[in-house]
Amino acid sequence: MSLTNQELENKINEWMRHGDIEKMQWAENIQKKLLASSIQRIKQNDKTVLREIVLPKWLDWDLLRALIDRKPVKDTTGRHCILCDMLYDNGIHFNEKFICESCFLKLKYLDVHKQADPMQLPSESEWIP
Ligand SMILES: [Zn+2]
Repeated sequence: MSLTNQELENKINEWMRHGDIEKMQWAENIQKKLLASSIQRIKQNDKTVLREIVLPKWLDWDLLRALIDRKPVKDTTGRHCILCDMLYDNGIHFNEKFICESCFLKLKYLDVHKQADPMQLPSESEWIP
């Protein structure tokens, strides 16, 4: 049985809740972890590819196919905040880094009060929806 997109997202959300970094990384970077030719064969349901690739035990064929077909949905998997090192859904990209909402607000507060913030932070209109 293949997974629906919703089932897959539920699984990924669960990994996130448990802080299962290895699984999260596979979910996020599956396209980089496998060769393009392998991915092509997985899409074609060609299981002989399993002889050539090394997968973690938890990653079965259906899950593998679902991850490869997955359309990444923004803000469902969380991103690593460069300041507090936690995974967050909401925040901004700044100099190609991710800053979570609470850190951003802290920085902004500091900025407003002219304490210490050398960074020019983007406006709220640039927040990820
Ligand atoms: Zn943060």
